[in-house]
Amino acid sequence: MSDTIEKVKCLIIGSGPAGYTAAIYAARANMSPVLYQGMQPGGQLTTTNEVENFPGYPEGITGPDMMIQLQDQAKRFGTDIRDGWVTKVDFSESIHKIWVNETQEIHAEIVIISTGASAKYLGLPSEQKYLQLGGGVSACAVCDGFFYRNQEVVIVGAGDSACEEAHYLSKLCKKVTMLVRRDEFRASKIMTNRVKKTENIEILFNSETEEVLGDGQVVTGVMVKNNQTNELTEIPATGFFVAIGHKPNTDIFKSFLDLDETGYIINKPGSSKTNIDGVFVSGDAADHVYRQAITAAGTGCMAALDAERYLASKEEL
Ligand code: NDP
Repeated sequence: MSDTIEKVKCLIIGSGPAGYTAAIYAARANMSPVLYQGMQPGGQLTTTNEVENFPGYPEGITGPDMMIQLQDQAKRFGTDIRDGWVTKVDFSESIHKIWVNETQEIHAEIVIISTGASAKYLGLPSEQKYLQLGGGVSACAVCDGFFYRNQEVVIVGAGDSACEEAHYLSKLCKKVTMLVRRDEFRASKIMTNRVKKTENIEILFNSETEEVLGDGQVVTGVMVKNNQTNELTEIPATGFFVAIGHKPNTDIFKSFLDLDETGYIINKPGSSKTNIDGVFVSGDAADHVYRQAITAAGTGCMAALDAERYLASKEEL
């Protein structure tokens, strides 16, 4: 353990669109933010190729380029951006304690949590290969569906997200094949009925992904196994969508913050406030519904404004 404790006014944890937007607002409000980037600097967007739905980029921009621009914008106003992984917190007192890389102890008046969520993947080597290549594997239909217009795609999952994403894809793609590993959906009835009623969605029950097929560069199909008969079927597809849930990156906060059953941080409605004074949340760590870069950025702005008001009210006391 380090024997010097650093004191900061505003500590931001996470470097996706939520964290950087919070930093831009906090820096411009003279809150001298310190931002820790975490394990995946730039967050989930760094695994996205082209971002076409963030307003202000009429020609689109790659995820990594967008994150560099957000980082530069946060730096321009004086954000102290650091490498490092927050490994432990203690929010039991009015000064919030944070440990970086297990050793460095920081005391912060305000903490803005923007640690995001991670999409779950099946973990098959072929899936990971085409994900890394940007060759047709995605965990976000709203982000990437547009690239598969009039093409055939496969989506895995049977929850509300999978149904919502399959329905979204069905409006863009020629055909959507949905792989459901059991003989029933997990999703709500209304969502299940919606996919069942959509003509160009084919649902394959008891079906699991054996392998994502490709030509070495891009996806060309999916080998599917019926787990009742062990029969293998090859489905032609140019896109492979995984919608089997997300895991919010909130484990280190669970002793102090109210979380829902999946681990998302519960914020006070209409604000970024958590159950602890001076601790705010933005982005996907508290959002299992929208999960978009633009909504994350919006809540990053909310967190910085809420934080600024909190500091002002403390200073008035
Ligand atoms: P869920 O955890 O609800 O569903 C995950 C799905 O993925 C399940 O059907 C599960 O199958 C399947 N799955 C998990 N692992 C595998 C695997 N290895 N291979 C194949 N299939 C797998 O996650 P969601 O993201 O769908 O939803 C999260 C929460 O958000 C839920 O509470 C949901 O209701 C909510 N939500 C609400 C929406 C709305 O109301 N508009 C929209 C989106 C989400 P199995 O069923 O067999 O376990």
